[in-house]
Amino acid sequence: MSCTITTSSIKSPITPTWCPGCGNFMILNALQKAFVELELEEANTAIFYGIGCSGNMADFNRAYGFHSLHGRALPNAIGAKLANHNLKIIIVAGDGDFYGEGLNHFISLARGNHDVTIIVHNNSRYSLTTGQSSPTTKKGIKTKSTPMGVIEKPLNPITTALTAEASFVSRGYSTKPSQLIQLIKAGILHPGFALIDVIQLCPSFNKEENHPFFAERIYDLAETDHNSSDKMAAIIKAQETKKIPLGIFYQDKKSVPYHAQLPQIEKQSLIDQWSAEINIKTAMTKFK
Ligand code: SF4
Repeated sequence: MSCTITTSSIKSPITPTWCPGCGNFMILNALQKAFVELELEEANTAIFYGIGCSGNMADFNRAYGFHSLHGRALPNAIGAKLANHNLKIIIVAGDGDFYGEGLNHFISLARGNHDVTIIVHNNSRYSLTTGQSSPTTKKGIKTKSTPMGVIEKPLNPITTALTAEASFVSRGYSTKPSQLIQLIKAGILHPGFALIDVIQLCPSFNKEENHPFFAERIYDLAETDHNSSDKMAAIIKAQETKKIPLGIFYQDKKSVPYHAQLPQIEKQSLIDQWSAEINIKTAMTKFK
């Protein structure tokens, strides 16, 4: 019998080791609340983690999952989804992990419209390794690995996802938990690739982009006339830099996920087919 995830069942006995003021605390809370509010089943929910401060969340959720290597949470998650497409798959990692080492996988998953929800803790740094620049660090910023300032322009995750054919693209902020819970829920319910790029405060290694910095720039797309079914409008919104839009940039309401296009698993998941085959073989052995 499968149990529904509850507020107490999802919490592990391990206390988070993140720095005081880290945005990861808020993202963890939002993720757990979204699971509880959606009444997800323990047996049918799996979380795949990358490496980094965000990936340490693997210790703080009591849930099925897999703690992978840099960038490799993405292909591992797809393996699980195709083996048992009845699973709800959530992938958690940082900007260095997904937009650096895992970028090729990220684009591949978006193009394929694989049915997974990707939560990116985007603090614009490799923070677990003490603050090197990542693909989303802004040009000119001095970090441990760029003492003269970053030369490259930053990668724009929203534009990248949109142009890679992602069917759900959104941005949250770790200090806006109510909106973040709603975005995570919408991403999980979306049948296909769902990105929630979360601006995450890192008071230890990104002191410039703190809460006052974001508080005067963020605004909610839902409070504008933005049409989230218009991809070109989403791409234009994604280019804004002086102000920072939060919410759903784009959602394809007719999204058909990858696994739903595979006739091989139309009637049964691969894992159920494999179990049935094992049962037949076992029965035949008994008759010999
Ligand atoms: Fe959070 Fe930054 Fe500390 Fe890592 S280094 S736990 S991201 S505040």
